Amino acid sequence: MKGLIFDLKRYAVHDGPGIRFNIFFKGCPLHCLWCHNPEGVSFQPELMLMPSRCARCGDCVRSCKYGALSQDPEGQVQADRSRCTLCRDCLEACQREAIDIVGREFTVEEIVAEAEKERVFFEQSGGGVTLTGGEPLAQPEFTGSLLEALKRRGLHTALDTSGYAPSEVFRRLSEKADLILFDLKLMDDKRHREYTGVSNQLILSNLKVLDNLGKPIWVRFPLIPGVNDDDQNLNAMADFLSDLKSVQQINVLPYHKGGVEKFRRLGREAEFAVFEPPSSEKVEMVIDFFKEKEFQVKLGG
Ligand code: SF4
Ligand code: SF4
Repeated sequence: MKGLIFDLKRYAVHDGPGIRFNIFFKGCPLHCLWCHNPEGVSFQPELMLMPSRCARCGDCVRSCKYGALSQDPEGQVQADRSRCTLCRDCLEACQREAIDIVGREFTVEEIVAEAEKERVFFEQSGGGVTLTGGEPLAQPEFTGSLLEALKRRGLHTALDTSGYAPSEVFRRLSEKADLILFDLKLMDDKRHREYTGVSNQLILSNLKVLDNLGKPIWVRFPLIPGVNDDDQNLNAMADFLSDLKSVQQINVLPYHKGGVEKFRRLGREAEFAVFEPPSSEKVEMVIDFFKEKEFQVKLGG
């Protein structure tokens, strides 16, 4: 069994306790306009161009048998992704590593072998493996097998999820993880649809299911000015979460523009939006707001 993964990150410290080995699943049923990992949205491998590394030599264009690459009058490489077969010839041709294909299949055994290399760091720091993305629950059979394999080896697992999955899948896979990092974005359903492309009703109902399972939950709140930083949303979140008993902390994650360059590299600028990061005063205000409601709050993951 194989899973489509777009990155493996060692020594991560923001996605669960201790030092983490993060596995980024490719493919997500949501389409958040602020996404900072846009290479995790599509369920297919994708061609990525990195103009800042490009010498405009044209070797890639000449190597492509399918006419998927061209150069504009300034020598800038352009891709017609509808013609690209992901054959990788242009990656071989480019001496500057200015082209890549994001997304590669891994077996459970391959991922476990990579995670095992980090065991000493996990033991020293109380860390473990975090499944993130993209959406791990969108590849349910692979995710289930991977969580079981990691558990058999005694490795701590955190599952980072949007909560948007059929309830049976959500419950079955949540039970296999040690900690759930649950992304909560917007409480108003109409606005949730507008900004993420899906309703939040399934997400909120899954969060209640999770709470009843008694799994430790860290709620992750991406703070985006003009989208979800208003009093109405903050109060609705606090009211909803105060009824739950398994929420150990809220992680406030201030929006940053890290995804913007990646939209461009993927040729998908039109699908996303650019926002302004929150001021430090706003971030402090939101943290204080949740603290006053007696939640444990942490800046960052
Ligand atoms: S991966 Fe193959 S088909 Fe796609 S642009 Fe590169 S050479 Fe052309
Ligand atoms: S081969 Fe690499 S450096 Fe040369 S034009 Fe293509 S992407 Fe740019």
